[in-house]
Amino acid sequence: MLSKRVKNIAQSETLAIDSKAKQLKKEGKDVVILAAGEPDFNTPENIKQAAKKAIDSNFTRYTPVGGITELRKAVAEKFKRENNISYDASEVMISCGGKHSLYNIMMAVLDKGDEAILPVPYWVSYKEMIKLADAKPVFCKTDDIFKLTADMVSDKITDKTKMLVLNSPCNPSGAVVEHDEIKKIADLAIKHNFYVLSDEVYEHFVYNDKKNLSIASLNEDIKKLTITSNSVSKTYAMTGWRIGYTGAGKEIIKAMENLQSHSTSNPSNIAQYAALEALTTPQDSVKGMVKAFDERRRFVHKRLNEIHDISCVEPEGAFYAFADISKTGMKSIDFASNLLDEALVAVVPGIAFGMEGYIRLSYAASIHEIERGLDRIDKWVKQKRANSVG
Ligand code: GLU
Repeated sequence: MLSKRVKNIAQSETLAIDSKAKQLKKEGKDVVILAAGEPDFNTPENIKQAAKKAIDSNFTRYTPVGGITELRKAVAEKFKRENNISYDASEVMISCGGKHSLYNIMMAVLDKGDEAILPVPYWVSYKEMIKLADAKPVFCKTDDIFKLTADMVSDKITDKTKMLVLNSPCNPSGAVVEHDEIKKIADLAIKHNFYVLSDEVYEHFVYNDKKNLSIASLNEDIKKLTITSNSVSKTYAMTGWRIGYTGAGKEIIKAMENLQSHSTSNPSNIAQYAALEALTTPQDSVKGMVKAFDERRRFVHKRLNEIHDISCVEPEGAFYAFADISKTGMKSIDFASNLLDEALVAVVPGIAFGMEGYIRLSYAASIHEIERGLDRIDKWVKQKRANSVG
């Protein structure tokens, strides 16, 4: 009796594994969680205070569907300051987390018969959202270090192409698209007239002197075709507050607002004030987190490559390592589920991101937890190997 729509989609593997691991932990099991991408840092104190103040000021009623004016203005200023994109406050809207922004975008723009180009590996929910919008995901291979080029995109363009999903830095691979390629991708979008959904949620998490380049900042023509999506979740360790935001042309923002007005209405009033504080005060906490993630990134990369039968490309951004486990001979789903059951380490199977033979480890955990997790993986893989040889 269920709708075809929901029968056609799978659960979010990232969240499923995360909740299974958290449940095991609750039951007293000593689980190391390297699954869902969630900073282990607490939300900075000033942001928490701003939320408490919002409650005390009785900011507890509905707000405009697309967010309070102050926050929309603050987001427009952020886009100008950090991304060099000039969006008016009316070209910005607030949703209940980055995922909700993306969902609204897909629903506002995609139709049956449309194709959305999705580079592989992709974050688990893009594919399902494209399907929920009745459109078709068209998978686009990246190279052996997961880099996307304009030529790869070009090969997938048809007269049905309505959108390219651009996620740089990429979840799960950590790859950052080269700036020259972003420029060429913009030219392709303009030439073939398709939207670029630029999900820049990991924009601050770039290492080795890499810099994020927002495609909408390149020129007016590509700005008109770009929908820029972001959130405060990762940047300010605010995953549970559920505030995401979008910058796009007025027509798209208005359509998204109409849609949101019939689903969630406004995002939490209180969380919007917390996000306002996050975006308008000194950004020191972000710098501190990026520094910590960079150290962990190096450590994870080195240790993974020391494990027999596992190798890993150095991630340039985000906070994930996407490790090749194909030499273990295990399917990624078996690897992840047996690892959790037998060695109490939670990771996400690569197949959830469209790539067999890989697992994703989040290094948004303390170095101590990461070390414990990698020690266990090392030991477990050795045991498996010994069993299969013996
Ligand atoms: N985006 C994070 C991840 O990939 C959080 C979980 C989710 O929303 O998928 O782990």
